[in-house]
Amino acid sequence: MNKESRKGLMLVLSSPSGAGKTTICKNIINLDKKISISISFTTREKRKSEKDGVDYFFVSKKKFENLKKKNFFVEYAKVFDNWYGTPKSFIEKNLKKGQDVIFDIDWQGAQKLSDFSKSDVVSIFILPPSNKILLERLKKRAEDSQDIVDKRMSKAKAEMSHWIEYDYVLINNDISECSSEIMNILNAERKKRNRQKFIFSFIEKLLN
Ligand code: 5GP
Repeated sequence: MNKESRKGLMLVLSSPSGAGKTTICKNIINLDKKISISISFTTREKRKSEKDGVDYFFVSKKKFENLKKKNFFVEYAKVFDNWYGTPKSFIEKNLKKGQDVIFDIDWQGAQKLSDFSKSDVVSIFILPPSNKILLERLKKRAEDSQDIVDKRMSKAKAEMSHWIEYDYVLINNDISECSSEIMNILNAERKKRNRQKFIFSFIEKLLN
């Protein structure tokens, strides 16, 4: 099967902050070379461990506004007082050539991507095993101030109430187990009839 014979899919991962989604995203990229990550633009401050152009493109509010006006984003949202946006051209280019794209975005972004192209979206909501563990993970990260940790914890419940809008829901008891569950979903979704463009001509040959 050549690359053009399958349309890429958009694998959307959402969860409250601290549920392990960013690490899981990185695992998936390492496990599967046929998926690329969509790097969002944000006006949030860069954390010490983060790299510009790798984790996010860190931009000023003014630059973000300009990009918004130029229709550069397929979706954008305000999360925790900062702006986040997903660039449109990267998605279009990759899906067209049969390359899947993974997104680490919130429920607002997931909804907007579905509005953009519902049949291409596979959405997964990742839950923490408990609120206690979620708080521990947020504290352990310790890159954000206590004030931000508190804010993120109180927003986690609001974020989790959106679980019902997703195709799949996973509980992240163990990062590598959760990553391999996502790989199973990804591989099954790739086999969906409507995603295998080549199947029509292939079956035609079998039937003739
Ligand atoms: P963080 O600042 O912890 O990296 O991310 C905060 C939240 O913003 C996370 O839930 C993350 O998934 C979400 N997020 C990151 N990039 C985007 C984006 O481009 N669009 C939307 N809607 N949410 C995003």
